[in-house]
Amino acid sequence: MCDVNKLLRNLPKIDRVLDDLQDTFSESIPLAIIKSAVQQCIEEKRKLILDGKLKTLPQDQEAWYKIFTESILKKNSLNYRRVINGTGVVIHTNLGRSLLGAQSIDALQVAGGCYTNLEFDLTTGKRGSRYSLVEEIICDLTGAEAAIVVNNNAAAVLLALNTLSFNSETIVSRGQLVEIGGSFRIPDVMSRSGARMVEVGATNRTHVHDYVDAITDETTLLLKVHTSNFRVIGFTSEVPVADMVAIGKKHDIPVMEDLGSGSLIDLSPWGLPKEPTVQEIVQEGADVVTFSGDKLLGGPQAGIIVGKKAIIDKIKKNPMNRALRIDKFTLAGLETVLRNYYDLDMAIANVPTLTMLTAAPDTIKKKGQAILRRLGGATKQKNIIELRKTVSKVGGGAMPEHGLASWALVLHPKSGKAATLEKQLRSRDIPIIGRIEDEKMILDLRTIQGPDIPLLVDMLKSFSGKSEN
Ligand SMILES: *Cc1c(COP(=O)(O)O)cnc(C)c1O
Repeated sequence: MCDVNKLLRNLPKIDRVLDDLQDTFSESIPLAIIKSAVQQCIEEKRKLILDGKLKTLPQDQEAWYKIFTESILKKNSLNYRRVINGTGVVIHTNLGRSLLGAQSIDALQVAGGCYTNLEFDLTTGKRGSRYSLVEEIICDLTGAEAAIVVNNNAAAVLLALNTLSFNSETIVSRGQLVEIGGSFRIPDVMSRSGARMVEVGATNRTHVHDYVDAITDETTLLLKVHTSNFRVIGFTSEVPVADMVAIGKKHDIPVMEDLGSGSLIDLSPWGLPKEPTVQEIVQEGADVVTFSGDKLLGGPQAGIIVGKKAIIDKIKKNPMNRALRIDKFTLAGLETVLRNYYDLDMAIANVPTLTMLTAAPDTIKKKGQAILRRLGGATKQKNIIELRKTVSKVGGGAMPEHGLASWALVLHPKSGKAATLEKQLRSRDIPIIGRIEDEKMILDLRTIQGPDIPLLVDMLKSFSGKSEN
């Protein structure tokens, strides 16, 4: 007990510390930041002492000031920062999903820094609708009668269910009650939307008669959910959306499909699995289709709802829409991305998600060879960096089983553990995020961007294989 009191007494006095630190930092860093950082440091130590987890204090004033300085600098730097994605997961939800190309970045600058016609009709000089900025383009590309965009696809599903099936029944197959990361589960979203879920079929098989038998006077929607992030294999069957549309027509009930990833182009010519495109589902006759803006589409975070005009009009009038609406930056990014889809080659060239997904292994290998050339022979001789085949992932819950043949830089930790190396790379000013395989650090070159390369070269030049602790 006595020890604890002594330790507590010996904690630095904030006022004294602040006087000293202010001289060092006050030119460049606000006093409030310095004060809060120092208080946090001392408070942390106090807690550790009281919990019996700290038995000795930093040696001297110098040691304390090192701790304070680190904490002040951290508090004064941006929390939301650029990282280098060496994971090879193209649509990496934790690293920001899809990247936007140069045209989109220009449009974001205009949307943020200038007044715009966000809700102003330049023809009439009257109030306009923000949705009209992208609706026609989405309709052109998907063949749908009408469209609306909201905050994300989770919002799109919630809004559509709430508009079409509030206080009434939605029929859905038991094989499609999916959970997407981040606690999005169909049954939960359904209940929050006010729709009553009627489950039909079994986990592995659902038939036309399952839907037909479940229809009552209360039924207002037949829902299909694309099982993007998992597969049921073996003895399975699902009712195609065209058959659901036939049932819907007969009973005058609309059919909705939540497509999830929602691709506008068929990527199978590049060796990716054939996924249903939005156009195909619209063509099959679905009344409403929802999909993400930042998965396979490669745009900003958004949820896109396309479908029959009468239904989209209803969705537009739902007061909930105002709470889920898309912001001006997203609209700017989305329009520029969508415009590329009028031409397949333009889309592949200008939408980074598509460029990365369709990159040939040889192109990726050349990126690695160029980096090794810039390093010279030294590191190669030490045999600590090599170029090796690897497998990348699509990510974003899309095409979960499909690997993309790729190339990676493999870093061999000569001493210490791969986990220590991983942490060092992650702790850099511009963190480098990779993955560990067989006690080696893998940096998949598919997701390494052009501007990342000089930074990577700098890091690799000083890489000795030895970790510092
Ligand atoms: C990803 C996904 C969602 C959620 O989309 P967000 O844009 O991430 O909100 C909903 N449904 C399915 C089937 C999905 O794959």
